[in-house]
Amino acid sequence: MFGRVGAIAIDGQAAAGKTVVGRELALRLGCPFLDTGIMYRAVTWLALNEGVSMEDETALGELASGSAMRPGDRADNGLLLGDRMLGPELRTAEVDQHVSLVARVSGVRREMVRQQRDIAARACQDSGGIVMVGRDIGTIVLPDAHLKVFMVASPEVRAQRRYDELKSQGQAASYQEILDNALSRDRIDSQRADSPLAQAADALLVDTSDLTIEQVVGKILEGLESSAERTPR
Ligand code: C5P
Repeated sequence: MFGRVGAIAIDGQAAAGKTVVGRELALRLGCPFLDTGIMYRAVTWLALNEGVSMEDETALGELASGSAMRPGDRADNGLLLGDRMLGPELRTAEVDQHVSLVARVSGVRREMVRQQRDIAARACQDSGGIVMVGRDIGTIVLPDAHLKVFMVASPEVRAQRRYDELKSQGQAASYQEILDNALSRDRIDSQRADSPLAQAADALLVDTSDLTIEQVVGKILEGLESSAERTPR
């Protein structure tokens, strides 16, 4: 139905459901998926492990430049950092609290964007497309993406979903802490000087507050179909 899918860029607020929707979409379209958030999380994890200050922009930029990353093959959102596979360690509360500070740093962003464009170019060549999710994919990383989506949901819905997800995995979670962290990350991500979180002018806005995953995926597939009709490939 879709032939060559091209690049699909999904951006939006913290915990708006981008990853679960993006992964499902990629599965349906038979193309690779990249959650770019885990790349910023990996640099943060490294900085915390190596005792690098979140204020030391030079050292953070150097950490990023020395970190070759590739999406892992595992279905659980893993990332290959060099030859090390990282997964759950990228989603701890400590990483949640620091990641937006690391993602503000231009030297870090420059390197992540470079690696993300390489991954997208390879995926489009080998598999005909990619679904990439993040905060600046439609605006900066892939401004020529075939379809751009911007996902939002009310803060309370986002926090409740993340809370339910952690609980279902048997992890300890505090609704209030999750809500506070999501709001704080949204604020830093939207206000930073370098490539702030913003909806691209040509992005499809999807408010997921009252929608199921299936309904959101359906809306994006509809958007993809109508964009294919406008620009047949
Ligand atoms: O998507 P996730 O919540 O895992 O992203 C973690 C953080 O990484 C975001 O809050 C944001 O600070 C940063 N990020 C970014 N640009 C991206 C993806 C994530 O700045 N493309």
